[in-house]
Amino acid sequence: MPKKTLKYWKTKIDKVFHEYIRRRDADNKTGYCSCISCGKQVHFSETDAGHFISRQHLITRYDERNVHAQCRKCNRFEYGRQYEYSLKLGEELSQELLTLSRGVLKLTDPEWLEIFQDFKTKLDDLKSIQNF
Ligand SMILES: [Zn+2]
Repeated sequence: MPKKTLKYWKTKIDKVFHEYIRRRDADNKTGYCSCISCGKQVHFSETDAGHFISRQHLITRYDERNVHAQCRKCNRFEYGRQYEYSLKLGEELSQELLTLSRGVLKLTDPEWLEIFQDFKTKLDDLKSIQNF
């Protein structure tokens, strides 16, 4: 297998990871999520997977604690309302993620593949119990 680019893995993993996060935060029966920043109830299909620490930081990009369902208004037009986001996460976790985000992540193709497969499995598990 020829070596894959980081862009290849990001595109591939983002797709399953973002859907997994949005489904994880949805009510299994109704499909509604509570926006991590403003608390508004939004249907799964109209949410974004919003990062607390920006996606530019690869090391926290796929950290489940760093990403939550968010309404599009908060995510796209209000820079994720990071202050409100940090209040929801709590000071300890916010600090931990901030510190972690300064690190560097370098993975091999098999390691990226493992991350992809892990989220793919989690996503499929959720899909099997949710009917939206
Ligand atoms: Zn919101």
